[in-house]
Amino acid sequence: MLNQKDISAQYLSSHDRLTEPLDELWQNISPLYCIRESIWLKQLLRLSQPTEVEAQQAITLTTQFIERVRADKKAVHMIDALLLEYSLDTREGVLLMCLAEALMRVPDKATADALIRDKLSVADWQSHLKSSDSLFVNASTWGLMLTGKVINYDQRENTSPTKALNSLVTKFSEPVIRQAMHQAMKIMGHQFVLGRDINEALKNAETPRSQGFSYSFDMLGEAALTSTDAQKYYDDYFNAISELAKFKSKKATGPEPSISIKLSALHPRYEAANEERVLTELFETVLALLQHAREQNVAITIDAEEADRLEISLKLFAKLYQDDSIKGWGKFGLVVQAYSKRALPVITWLAALAKQQGNCIPMRLVKGAYWDTELKLAQQHGHEDYPVYTRKEATDVSYLACARLLLSDHIRGCIFPQFASHNAQTIAAIASMASHQDFEFQRLHGMGDALYHHAKNLLNYDVRIYAPVGSHKDLLPYLVRRLLENGANSSFVHRLVDARCPVDELTEHPVDTLRSRSSLPNPRIMSPPKIFGKQRKNSKGLACDIESEWLPFKQQVDCFLKDHVWHAHSIIGGAQQPGQSHPVIAPYDHKITVG
Ligand code: FAD
Repeated sequence: MLNQKDISAQYLSSHDRLTEPLDELWQNISPLYCIRESIWLKQLLRLSQPTEVEAQQAITLTTQFIERVRADKKAVHMIDALLLEYSLDTREGVLLMCLAEALMRVPDKATADALIRDKLSVADWQSHLKSSDSLFVNASTWGLMLTGKVINYDQRENTSPTKALNSLVTKFSEPVIRQAMHQAMKIMGHQFVLGRDINEALKNAETPRSQGFSYSFDMLGEAALTSTDAQKYYDDYFNAISELAKFKSKKATGPEPSISIKLSALHPRYEAANEERVLTELFETVLALLQHAREQNVAITIDAEEADRLEISLKLFAKLYQDDSIKGWGKFGLVVQAYSKRALPVITWLAALAKQQGNCIPMRLVKGAYWDTELKLAQQHGHEDYPVYTRKEATDVSYLACARLLLSDHIRGCIFPQFASHNAQTIAAIASMASHQDFEFQRLHGMGDALYHHAKNLLNYDVRIYAPVGSHKDLLPYLVRRLLENGANSSFVHRLVDARCPVDELTEHPVDTLRSRSSLPNPRIMSPPKIFGKQRKNSKGLACDIESEWLPFKQQVDCFLKDHVWHAHSIIGGAQQPGQSHPVIAPYDHKITVG
């Protein structure tokens, strides 16, 4: 078990850790699933604490980034302005988000119109039109977005923004708004998706590639529900690898592009409860893709998804990585989420896996895109605590602790770090910690363009752009994650484009922010057992997908089943009745006699 007393020493200085048996390092991962933040963050704070020089460098760099981006007139997209006004801490922002999210799934027009009527009638749109410039930008953004071919809103007619929005909400009928919302989704799709297919995406990537940016292409779509879905995604990935290998860019100057893969798209039963199928059927599917990619020399990264899939994804990764046909390749990588309490031991285990096999693992470090989902799931399942941190700055601290480990000398060469963030402070803090350039930064297509344009000019690190490829109808889950991320008022991109947010606040190191709080966990987020208040405790559930929770439970059940044979009989008047007895078989497995 992990000694929680001095993890900075354990993680940063010891080369020996990477030669420890993998099984032993594995044991450090699962017990951290729901560890108390108040205990664990104290350790992470030590690891992410900057030296004085690092802290000063990070402030200087972050300030430079922010000033350049804010001075850059092209930096704020229409969508940024829109999301700034209708952020998710306003009722209207939440309504628009719900509407956008729900509308795409409503199959029939009558229900869609009823939904619009229900949602739009209760909001206070007027309150968003209080001041001049930025609000005008917002209103005209909405005007633009919601019009397209639908509403002919012309600024020259001197129509005030108030009138434009009011007329939108009050005058137009639901079918018009429905069409407008779909139009808005299309515009957002253009913002976040590089192309409808891989060939279009490759063409659209040419200019950024000529400027030294590289790409990781992602085929839109996730969570296959049937094997037909899974086969379609497999074909998409297979084809994308072939096309990428065929496409020879004359202009590209940066590193070779790669493909990102979602495991949930490749098997309808990708879950811990089906471990056997995952490690056989899904293994075979991904192995075939990897062998194809190796033949074509196209690097592959496995995306990170929900927290309950972490352990099964690592087992699958290790089995693939250790397969004879993949050994020695060095272009098969994966994503680690820093908001997960298990991130740090996962990195050590992966570094040991790489070291013991003798070739490098490219690893993208992200903060994590499913934060809201993780909270909700932990509450629904009645877990003891959350698998993710509850303060934004805690996730930032964890990210920098992981980054420090990834940049340390003994991990160098085992892991190739790929730091994915749109946060100027995070980028600056990493640059200030790095004593070498064996890593790259990554951003999403449609986000952080201006920031990385200036960061590349200032620092000259390699930058890779993660670019979704696919049709409008497959965009929804991805779009919702991006809207949540951009719309959250705590998110860096949101505060960066908000001129009202002082630069000092944005340059503050997350270690200082977290230390200044009255408690390490967020007191406004109750732990799952306490969500119903003092009157009623939430019912307790078992995290069946988590080894450290499931195995002790299973052992007890096994012991009980082994030692216990049930005898049932009639009792009449308090007395056990004699009669014939016969064995009772378990309905789920006829080889087991229950009693
Ligand atoms: P910041 O604004 O600094 O951070 C926002 C993040 O902080 C949130 O996303 C969340 O993780 C965290 N956060 C917000 N509020 C809280 C809170 N109250 N408590 C605790 N934490 C909080 N994500 C995946 O999950 N899987 C992937 O495979 C994946 N691939 C990516 C690839 C690339 C190239 C990029 C750029 C991103 C990818 N992401 C992925 C998305 C990534 O997780 C988000 O973009 C990222 O979390 C935003 O972080 P930031 O540093 O840009 O922004």
